[in-house]
Amino acid sequence: MESEKSVEAVEPVGTRRPEIRIRDLHKSFGDNQVLRGIDLDIAQGEVVCVIGPSGSGKSTLLRCVNLLEEPTRGQVFVGGTEVTDPDVDIDAVRRRIGMVFQQFNLFPHLTVTENLTLPQRRVLKRDKARAAKAAAENLERVGLSEKAGAYPSSLSGGQQQRVAIARALAMGPRVMLFDEPTSALDPELVGDVLAVMRMLADEGMTMMVVTHEMAFAREVADRVVFMDGGVIVEDGTPERVIGDPAHERTRHFLSRLL
Ligand code: ADP
Ligand code: MG
Repeated sequence: MESEKSVEAVEPVGTRRPEIRIRDLHKSFGDNQVLRGIDLDIAQGEVVCVIGPSGSGKSTLLRCVNLLEEPTRGQVFVGGTEVTDPDVDIDAVRRRIGMVFQQFNLFPHLTVTENLTLPQRRVLKRDKARAAKAAAENLERVGLSEKAGAYPSSLSGGQQQRVAIARALAMGPRVMLFDEPTSALDPELVGDVLAVMRMLADEGMTMMVVTHEMAFAREVADRVVFMDGGVIVEDGTPERVIGDPAHERTRHFLSRLL
């Protein structure tokens, strides 16, 4: 563990081994070919923002990484394990992958702490004390220790989303997937959620983030991927893809965001 950390500290992102590898990924719903051959490598500690118009397949791509959708063709590897292997232990795969959605999906009848401990106890079989410890640690990370006993309905949308992030983190994931995590929030609440995501990026978490927050993508992403029509149209640094897009489709998409 220690030696792995020190290697991470000196190796530039591009030379690290891929944490997520996606090869020739296809996904159809009936006749609707939603993903038409996606190839993407994400290195350990890398932050990749996925942008693109509505319906371009961004959510489907994320959902194929943790098998919420079963790919029609192609392979996905997470941390060296092929998650698309028919014999894979899906629960073991999902334990390594945290996912945060636009809708926070907290259990309304449970307190914040109970929301964090329940999946640890059910999925990881942690005992009460161990689960409570991870819950407290991760609530502190997202700045919500004082809300431990509160119910979700008493929290702002931004606070609920930070609880959802803490709940995912308490499971000890290797990678985090975010699907438009700030899209359902009032503008004044977006900043606190992005700040938590920035902290995770600084800590070296491997992250795939579907977002329309271009300022966040520019500041935090190592790479930006622009998708349209189920393919990756551009993949490069934020300066390149957002600042100087090579394709007309990317320029058109970005111009509509302004
Ligand atoms: P994005 O996140 O980029 O807006 P999605 O991945 O959600 O795009 O959707 C891409 C296409 O896939 C859309 O045409 C959508 O209707 C279709 N789609 C997504 N999920 C399903 C599903 N579970 N069943 C049928 N069609 C789906
Ligand atoms: Mg989507």
